[in-house]
Amino acid sequence: MMEVKGNRVQFFTFKTWKFPWLIHGFSSRWGGVSSGEYRQLNLAGREEKPGNIRQNRALFLRELGLFNPRVFMGEQVHGVKTRLVEKTSAQVLPDTDGIVTGSSQHVLMAFFADCVPLFLVVPETKTVGIVHAGWKGTAGGIAQSAVRFLCGFLDIGPEKILAGLGPAIGPCCYEVGGEVAKKFSEQTTRYSSRRERFFLDLPAANAIQLEEAGLPAANIGKSGFCTSCNPHLFYSHRRDRGVTGRMAGIIAIV
Ligand SMILES: [Zn+2]
Repeated sequence: MMEVKGNRVQFFTFKTWKFPWLIHGFSSRWGGVSSGEYRQLNLAGREEKPGNIRQNRALFLRELGLFNPRVFMGEQVHGVKTRLVEKTSAQVLPDTDGIVTGSSQHVLMAFFADCVPLFLVVPETKTVGIVHAGWKGTAGGIAQSAVRFLCGFLDIGPEKILAGLGPAIGPCCYEVGGEVAKKFSEQTTRYSSRRERFFLDLPAANAIQLEEAGLPAANIGKSGFCTSCNPHLFYSHRRDRGVTGRMAGIIAIV
């Protein structure tokens, strides 16, 4: 459902989202300047040289056709809040995991290394958003609350919203304990008696939430990529035991 684009930097887009006013992409690790554990296109993280992050972000933004844009991001606290990015917004919105805009002046960016990137588009109103959904946010219903936020703010029905679930850790690799597993439905967890652990399908849990919020299944795109299974393409916090880089999702209106 996603295709690879880009020259210097390679990134993924949702195949069917061909709106001339929309820019969106999810980075792979290809094409940046970082080295070691963070090679190559590391886009966030305190452990990395700030100069590398600045350079990598500029490379990715340029590849998307964005030159010196005003970029906004959420603080990403594993909460459930979605907020509107406005003229007066801080560059980093506090206590925020979902950001939304209807303005072409505001480029939205969020960072990931296993958590689910949820891209949102409302073609009718030209509104876009991006949500960071890890297990805590997903257990708290962040996908649903983002849909409710958009519907309330735009006064539209959920069937007008297109959603895209980008690369995230898959049920093949996302081992969790019983305490985490019990926060999710049986549909999205599988118990391995050999491992004595559960495997959680975080993208599926978000897809179910979106459908329960009223999005038709046909409106929900899925990447199908597991970040942990594809070390050549993606950073994975779980696979790399915390010493790793971050991919970014970017969405904007032009
Ligand atoms: Zn996997």
